[in-house]
Amino acid sequence: MSLTNTPPTAELQALDAAHHMHPFTANGALGQKGARIITRAQGVRLTDSNGEELIDGMAGLWCVNIGYGRAELAEAAARQMRELPYYNTFFQTSHVPALTLAAKLAELAPDDLNHVFFAGSGSEANDTNIRMVRQYWALKGQAQRGTIIARRNGYHGSTMGGGSLGGMAAMHAQGGMPIPGIVHIDQPYWWGEGGDMTPEEFGLARARALEEKILEIGPETVAAFIAEPVQGAGGVIIPPDSYWPEVQRIVDKYGILLIADEVITGFGRLGQWFGSQSYGIRPHIMTIAKGLSSGYQPIGGSIVCDEVAQTIAQDEFNHGYTYSGHPVAAAVALENLRILDEESIVTRVRDEAAPYLANAWATLTDHPLVGEAVSRGLMASLALTPDKSSRAAFAAGPGRAGYVCREYCFANGLVMRHVGDRMIIAPPLVISTSDIDELIRRARNALDQTLEHLHRDGAMVAA
Ligand SMILES: *Cc1c(COP(=O)(O)O)cnc(C)c1O
Repeated sequence: MSLTNTPPTAELQALDAAHHMHPFTANGALGQKGARIITRAQGVRLTDSNGEELIDGMAGLWCVNIGYGRAELAEAAARQMRELPYYNTFFQTSHVPALTLAAKLAELAPDDLNHVFFAGSGSEANDTNIRMVRQYWALKGQAQRGTIIARRNGYHGSTMGGGSLGGMAAMHAQGGMPIPGIVHIDQPYWWGEGGDMTPEEFGLARARALEEKILEIGPETVAAFIAEPVQGAGGVIIPPDSYWPEVQRIVDKYGILLIADEVITGFGRLGQWFGSQSYGIRPHIMTIAKGLSSGYQPIGGSIVCDEVAQTIAQDEFNHGYTYSGHPVAAAVALENLRILDEESIVTRVRDEAAPYLANAWATLTDHPLVGEAVSRGLMASLALTPDKSSRAAFAAGPGRAGYVCREYCFANGLVMRHVGDRMIIAPPLVISTSDIDELIRRARNALDQTLEHLHRDGAMVAA
């Protein structure tokens, strides 16, 4: 649909408000305001129904790794739809796109992560993981090992399983989560929770919270620990360097399974194919989705190590999805992986884009509103604060300043998301250095306007 054929924005907004229930949205309030309607995208840029151009600092929802507008993926989808638009992988059948993608993922994934169970999304893949790790221990004759340890403010999706693994208080407050058998420990968020400790001390302390929890509930009851290498939806929280080595030591010591939720960190975001490689950790299972297809098709999965896959294979695993390994999604994912690989996009993140972003992003720390500005690979965040020296929160409560800043970002042609009062970005991996410069310019303007706004409202007050 070309822009000239698009009905006026107000008409689209009215239809949207009348019939479309948005995820993670107060739909009543949105209906009053009217949704922003995105009509087209190319590279790292979006166009809305008013013809305004925006830099997409979030790659959609952390997924459009290769950028928008790659016709090769459209062609891969069309080709596959003509040849075999759908078939399932139940009942001892397979098809070429699913098996080829599984083999390709086994080749890309480190160590003996050689087996793939497909899902339609990251949430579904984490639901699979819950059942798979419990079934693994049952087949090992240790059915009492059912508890999964996860983290507060982690994000693992929005299904009952995924939302329960996640540690989002606002989600747990609705609809009966977490489900039984999932417990949470604190996150390695130094800026917000580190107190007087150095980041390294704090990273160790928060890793040891895992050991304390294991000992509290009994090592013989623990199935697995799940975590994101870098927390995404929690606010791009980059753990201190001391954190992951200590977690790995603890996981090894007690022989529990490690699930790395790579839904954001997979497929190049941290400058390696997987975030686990970037942190030197050795998971038994990796959750994947988002960048697997660059969001061009919905697809997720679990990449599983030999030991777990071979154990699961001993019996029928009574689990699967109609769209597990969907042929069109798999064909598109394969084309996406080909582009990531052949265009050396992952190495370019490591060698060029990530170091460039790290420098440019760090320049924002001189802004009066910014407490810290941190990045890892092409994930970055900054903490808004009324008082840098004490790392203070705002008296008005979390999320107000962040919301104001996000609105100014939109007005300046930049999609930057807020999580409470952290501003976060995760742009397409193909972002050029000049677009990084432009992104930073727009962010700085938005920060200036936010500061002015907060002063005007008398809101630059520490809690
Ligand atoms: C987005 C996300 C999920 C959930 O994926 P969906 O495709 O939205 O179900 C799970 N884990 C992490 C780390 C995510 O960022």
